[in-house]
Amino acid sequence: MSNNGMEQIGRIVKALSGYYYVRPEQGGAAEPTLQCRARGIFKKRGESPLVGDLVAYEPTENGEGAVNRILPRTTELVRPPVANVELAVLVFSVTEPTLNLQLLDKFLAHVEHAGLQPIICLSKLDLAAKDGTGADTLADIERIYRPIGYEIYSTSSLRHEGTGELEARLAGRLSVFAGQSGVGKSSLLNSIVPGLELHTAAISNKLGRGKHTTRHVELIGIAGGGYVADTPGFSQLDFQELGVDELSGCFPEFRERAGACKFRGCTHTHEPFCAVLEALENGEISPSRHEHYLLFLAEMKDKKRRY
Ligand code: GDP
Ligand code: ZN
Repeated sequence: MSNNGMEQIGRIVKALSGYYYVRPEQGGAAEPTLQCRARGIFKKRGESPLVGDLVAYEPTENGEGAVNRILPRTTELVRPPVANVELAVLVFSVTEPTLNLQLLDKFLAHVEHAGLQPIICLSKLDLAAKDGTGADTLADIERIYRPIGYEIYSTSSLRHEGTGELEARLAGRLSVFAGQSGVGKSSLLNSIVPGLELHTAAISNKLGRGKHTTRHVELIGIAGGGYVADTPGFSQLDFQELGVDELSGCFPEFRERAGACKFRGCTHTHEPFCAVLEALENGEISPSRHEHYLLFLAEMKDKKRRY
């Protein structure tokens, strides 16, 4: 492999029409990207670089660059196709739309399975403050999810509240935002990344559907180093790629107790001397979490039967 001593390490921030746009790791968001081709060797091996990849690359004679190799990935997401994502910011509005705990647990399970660190981000706090709707929701989230160890951020993009704290948490990391449409993801991203100006719902409704379907993923540099993907992740949440026996491992409070269950491979559904069921019984595990676990299990088994 050619190495004329100009090789550096960079991050692929965009991929388009066979080109990879690489930004040097040292230097920050202001550094220009270099338009690169991947070496032929990747095709031969059936590998392809992904946005988010850390790569060794070097300039070529034509003013472009070449990606020589991909550094080992820590994580790999399929939707959106991004490598090395560390944080998944799960955005849920306290109201409009009403917070759905079942959906939150589904997102959390997916994020755990993908090996990312989840952050629960409550949005539109100004609405809760206005007429009190959503106040119970806030309390519920704190009560159920803090003890599990999940981080919770409360924000209002409208009032620029809590967004600074979230921004500080994301510094130096690669993050994706996920959540139902309309919860305020674009508004949050816009307030975290000055000048980003993503279309929010008001505008994209006029443009019709396809806001996120035709676009390519791009990483946006943020203050303090780090990146956010400019497109929401985990839009299609089915448990296709997750095995039935993997689900309980995606609930941290179950995972940490499973060793104390009497039976190996305990499913925490009906077994005697199950540490998870005991914790549920004495109030250490939230009923809604276990209920949703049972629902997801049933859903997965049902899928298996149908395919
Ligand atoms: P996305 O679909 O998740 O990207 O959501 P958008 O950012 O497009 O926001 C959906 C709707 O919620 C828009 O009408 C926004 O103006 C509104 N919205 C977003 N953030 C806030 C907020 O903090 N407070 C209030 N009251 N409305 C918000
Ligand atoms: Zn058990």
